[in-house]
Amino acid sequence: MTSYVQDFEQGDKEHKDLLGGKGANLAEMTRLGLPVPPGFTITTEACRELMRTGAVPPSLRVEVTQALRRLEDAVGRHLGDATDPLLVSVRSGAKFSMPGMMETVLNIGLNDASVHGLAALSGDERFAWDSYRRLLQMFGKTVLDIDGARFESAIDRAKTAKGVTADVDLDAADMHALVDEFKEIVRAGSGRDFPQDPREQMDLAIVAVLGSWNTDRARLYRRKERIPDDLGTAVNIVTMVFGNLGPTSGTGVAFTRDPATGRTGDYGDYLPNAQGEDVVAGIRNTMSLADMGRLDPASYADLRAAMRRLETHYRDLCDVEFTVERGKLWMLQTRVGKRTASAAFRIAAALVDEHLITMDEALVRVTGEQLSQLMFPQFATDDDARAGRTLLTRGMAASPGAAVGRAVFDSATAQEWAERGEDVVLVRRETNPDDLGGMIAAVGILTARGGKTSHAAVVARGMGRTCVVGAEALDVDPAARTVTVRATPHPAEQDPQGRAESTDHVVHEGDVVAIDGSTGDVYLGAVPVVASPVTTYLEHGLDAALEQAGADEDTRSLVVAVDRLLRHADGARRLRVEANADTAVDARRARRLGAQGIGLCRTEHMFLGERRVLVERVVLATDDAERGHALDELLPLQRADFTDLLEVMDGLPTTIRLIDPPLHEFLPDLTELSVKVALAAERARHGGGEVDARDVTLLAAVQRMHEQNPMLGLRGVRLGLVVPGLFALQIRAVAEAVADRRVAGGDPRAEIMVPLVGSVQELRLVREEAEEIMADVGRARGLDLDLPVGGMIELPRAALTAGRIAEVADFFSFGTNDLTQTTWGFSRDDVEGAFFAEYTTLGVLAVSPFETIDQVGVGRLVRLATAEARAARPQITLGVCGEHGGDPESIRYFHEVGLDYVSCSPFRVPVARLEAGRAAVEGALAGSGSDVR
Ligand code: PEP
Ligand code: MG
Repeated sequence: MTSYVQDFEQGDKEHKDLLGGKGANLAEMTRLGLPVPPGFTITTEACRELMRTGAVPPSLRVEVTQALRRLEDAVGRHLGDATDPLLVSVRSGAKFSMPGMMETVLNIGLNDASVHGLAALSGDERFAWDSYRRLLQMFGKTVLDIDGARFESAIDRAKTAKGVTADVDLDAADMHALVDEFKEIVRAGSGRDFPQDPREQMDLAIVAVLGSWNTDRARLYRRKERIPDDLGTAVNIVTMVFGNLGPTSGTGVAFTRDPATGRTGDYGDYLPNAQGEDVVAGIRNTMSLADMGRLDPASYADLRAAMRRLETHYRDLCDVEFTVERGKLWMLQTRVGKRTASAAFRIAAALVDEHLITMDEALVRVTGEQLSQLMFPQFATDDDARAGRTLLTRGMAASPGAAVGRAVFDSATAQEWAERGEDVVLVRRETNPDDLGGMIAAVGILTARGGKTSHAAVVARGMGRTCVVGAEALDVDPAARTVTVRATPHPAEQDPQGRAESTDHVVHEGDVVAIDGSTGDVYLGAVPVVASPVTTYLEHGLDAALEQAGADEDTRSLVVAVDRLLRHADGARRLRVEANADTAVDARRARRLGAQGIGLCRTEHMFLGERRVLVERVVLATDDAERGHALDELLPLQRADFTDLLEVMDGLPTTIRLIDPPLHEFLPDLTELSVKVALAAERARHGGGEVDARDVTLLAAVQRMHEQNPMLGLRGVRLGLVVPGLFALQIRAVAEAVADRRVAGGDPRAEIMVPLVGSVQELRLVREEAEEIMADVGRARGLDLDLPVGGMIELPRAALTAGRIAEVADFFSFGTNDLTQTTWGFSRDDVEGAFFAEYTTLGVLAVSPFETIDQVGVGRLVRLATAEARAARPQITLGVCGEHGGDPESIRYFHEVGLDYVSCSPFRVPVARLEAGRAAVEGALAGSGSDVR
């Protein structure tokens, strides 16, 4: 029989699949002897069963009974007992953290009888009735699906009736009255009474929490974070401890290092006399841990000891949620904490220096995506740039980066405007999980309330979105679509003389604002941005970056950490990293960023602009001589392109792909030309000039060459075999450029790549022609020219016959853009915008296969072709040059398949270097990596 329940004592941190992150870590803390309130975990298997069958497995009820009895025996109390009640929380917790996305119900076990028991036990009537009303409210909303606003307005009415503004001003009698009112709301909203039976409360809450895995917002979050839908959530049943039992109680969130900067030293927020989610929700402003230390030195000392224990054990930054109940510390949760990209690099390097992890482990702790975030530009900090900007206010730096966009005040508008191409900054008083859509759509997020652990901050950091929180001078009015920036302190803080006359500033929806997620600064208008110090390092080296950093220690330690980790990756990786670059300018940049060659130089741009007329002449030529003349004119131009490129890439492989797109792409558009000729004919009929004969011939050619499916038509190698002289021109230009460079004393390493090969015979014919041309140029220049010739594997047939094609290829480059297109039968120019969103919703696609290689389909072809090619020609070089060459997950796959290199856009080169290094060390470290997503 499958077991669906595990006590905390049974599990450990390795079983996140089954216990969820929270459950596994609660179990681990229990094992470590840290003060965890006793409890048990219902496994993700129960959730998966619920998703499969629509019902919880029948044996779950029995197992819960057994676990509950063990729990009751351990704590010596019974669930919902009238005099000495055990109360529990029912908490969601999936393998990967999904902050605020799923449900939790607290205070299960309270009813009309046990509320008196709780009052007697705690000696606090108000607390007991408040706890009961919280249960009714959470249970009503989460389990019985009643609109939460109905409870909120009842509280507001109670406060208004009493003439007070804060919840704390409601006394025991008020809370009792609210309990009665909430029960009415429950009855009216759900058609049933609130269940008085504690076990029934618990069972219903378990089903509701399991079901919260599949809410719309949870699904949306998972899509964004690429978390599979079929993992399911676990549910933790935890003995309640109370942070709202007076001034010696409280609740908080803490980190063992600063998750924003990576600086050492504990760090967090504490709220005295508060319960559970109050801190994360950012509703009240919190105190620092240092202040907590002054308030309650004993609990603070216990907390610090627990945190040090956790960091030593996990050997990484941990975050914790804790509660102090009348001076006793309880650890409610821990996990390896999320962090900003710069903190990730700094912490990894610092942990190496503290001898807590090895360099290999440090490399696995940082990701290519984090590196790419660090390459984003930042706001300029020089005096000129500073002079021209208007600082509106300052909040807390919650997630770094520089975001400039139009202010919007609600999630729907953010999404609407972003869809039409506007950059928007989402400005909210505070965010909640319903804002997720807008947060994804926005380039930046700005809130008036909440700390670095508020919902906005945590979610934005997770998404790598620029975010500033707690900008308290902001009065956000979503109804009026304005935010007022108070020029003076908040009225409560004003001095009597009042600097109150200074004017407030009103920002309207659509006004441009700029937020700096690294400093917390908020500006009005667009602010100029500069290269990030990490980009300076990548392009110009460590010294230049340190110079740019000046005395800023955080920046200095960041670039040093990036340098160390990237160098370690370079030393560890097996994959070479090359770049897709078509021009000398791109090639130079790629080389600076560490590219070890050019894996794809697309040559089609060399036929555009002024050269278009020459291509037209090639197409329109009626005999070989005419075509030959046009090609002769193209030759020196093309040769110069290649000479420039080979000069920049001296000593490194430079893979030049022969022309690929259908020729009509170089000719005028069929419709436009048809209209032009028709209008000219019409005018000519009325005596207004003549039709241009060349246009007529061109139109005939365009019509002749028109194709229904050009991407599957006359392109790639087919073009080279059908249009005489075209490939020959390019091959000759390459050979002559190589000769010129050699004569100039260079070390050109050109390679010739043939696109869209489907049959070995195609490649053989081009190869024979290439060998003749090379021999010819070699003879003329007195050189031995023997450039490698290879093929692109972009068609399923090429992959399936790779063993044969390899016989005539020195190398293969997998063109995974076309290979994805042709394997799926997806037109890559059409489908992504058309229906991929729906396909993701339907679960057909988890992610676009044009972004991340579809391992089971397209990837399988790559694997198969790799094996067959190596079997046929062991020395063959194999690489990839589709977009996937710069995608972290795909790079790991290509490493595992055994390719020799990846080629990607210049900007992705450092990302690919890092990921290729991680892939190489990851296998050896399996299981010890961080679980942060
Ligand atoms: C490919 O198909 O993956 C490729 C690199 O070629 P292109 O994108 O130019 O078709
Ligand atoms: Mg292609």
